Amino acid sequence: MNKYHDTPIKPEDFAYDLIQWHKKNPRPMPWLETKDPYQIWISEIILQQTRVAQGWAYYQRFIQRFPTIHTLYAADETEIIKYWEGLGYYARIRNIIKTANVIVGQYNGHFPKTYDDLLKLPGIGPYTAAAIAGFAFEVPTPVLDGNVLRVVSRLLAIETPSQNQKTKQQIYHFLHQAIQKTLPSSFNQALMNYGALVCTPSNPNCPTCTFQHRCISLLKNIVASIPAKKIKMEKKERYFHYFVLTDPKQKTTLLSQRNEKDIWRLLFQFPLLEKEDDLSLDMNSIVSALKEMGIEVSSPHLHSVEKHHQLLTHQKIHFHFYDIRTEFHGTKTQTKYFKVNLTEVKSYTLPVILIKFLKSKII
Ligand code: SF4
Repeated sequence: MNKYHDTPIKPEDFAYDLIQWHKKNPRPMPWLETKDPYQIWISEIILQQTRVAQGWAYYQRFIQRFPTIHTLYAADETEIIKYWEGLGYYARIRNIIKTANVIVGQYNGHFPKTYDDLLKLPGIGPYTAAAIAGFAFEVPTPVLDGNVLRVVSRLLAIETPSQNQKTKQQIYHFLHQAIQKTLPSSFNQALMNYGALVCTPSNPNCPTCTFQHRCISLLKNIVASIPAKKIKMEKKERYFHYFVLTDPKQKTTLLSQRNEKDIWRLLFQFPLLEKEDDLSLDMNSIVSALKEMGIEVSSPHLHSVEKHHQLLTHQKIHFHFYDIRTEFHGTKTQTKYFKVNLTEVKSYTLPVILIKFLKSKII
C-alpha cells in the first residue's frame, strides 16, 4: 500500500502530530515563558522587524527600565523613544506609547483578553493580537506569520501567494480548526518553531519531517515553488541631502526634530533638503539651500560628501551627507534648527543611518 497520502491532512491530525513533535523538540523562548501580556506585547513588537539575537538585548533593556504598563505610561516620550534607538521602524514605538495610553486610560492598566479587542489597539495587527491572546490568555487563535504561512502552504500545496488575503483566510481556517483542542500557547509556539527549524524557507528538512507522508507539495514535488512569490511593488526612490554643519571654533552643529508624518517622526536630524534626483550639490547650491532654511553660513568649507542608501518597506532612500566646516547662524527669528554641542549629538534620538554616519566621523 502506498504510504503517501494525496488528500490533505485533517486539522486535528496536524495538531496532534505537531504537538508531539514539539514535546520532543522544545525550543525555549525566554520572552515567552511569561504569561504577562505586557511583556509578550513588547517582545512581539520588537521582533516584528528585528532579528531575535538583536531584539533580545533591546527587549531586556526595555523591560528593565519599563517593567510594567504603568511605568511605561508614566515615562517621558523622548526617553521611551531613546530606548528604541537603533531598532528602526519608529512607528512601532509611537504605537506602543499610544497603546499604553489606551490600556491605562480605558482599561485601567489591564490588557483586554479577546482577540477582537486586542486588534483595536494601535499597532496591534492580527499576528500580535493572536500572539498576546494565545500566549497570555490561552485564547485559541492561531498566529499567522511568514513561518506559519509557509508550513501550511506547503503542507496543503497552496499555490497562490501566501500574502493574498484569500490564501491567508484559507490557512487561518485550517489552523483555527486545528488549534481548538490544544493548549493554544503550545500549539502556536510549536507551529512557529516548525517553520523556523524544519520547514525552513530554503532547504526544508523534508526527510525528517513529521508530515513527510502527508505533505502534498512533497508528493507533487513542488516544495521549492511554495509559497509562491507575490509580485513586488516597486519601491519609491527618495533623495535626502543632509547638511552636517560643524562649527570648528564653537564645536557645535545644527539639528531639528522631524515632524513629517512619513518616516522617523519626532526623531532628530541635520538640516535636510529632499530633492527629486541623486545629483550632488556644489557649495553655491548648498549655501542657497541653507539660506532657504533660514541658516546663514560664513566661509564654508566642504570637507567631504558621503553617499549611502537604505531600503525601507516601501521606499529606497539615497543619502548625501555633506560634511561642511563653517560658522553659522539663523537668519529668521523662528527657525526649527537649534545648536547642539558636538559632544551632545549622540544623546538625541537619531535615525540609524545618521548614527552610522556619525560613527565614521569625529562627532
Ligand atoms: Fe515542509 Fe517538507 Fe515537511 Fe512538507 S515535507 S511540511 S515541505 S518540511
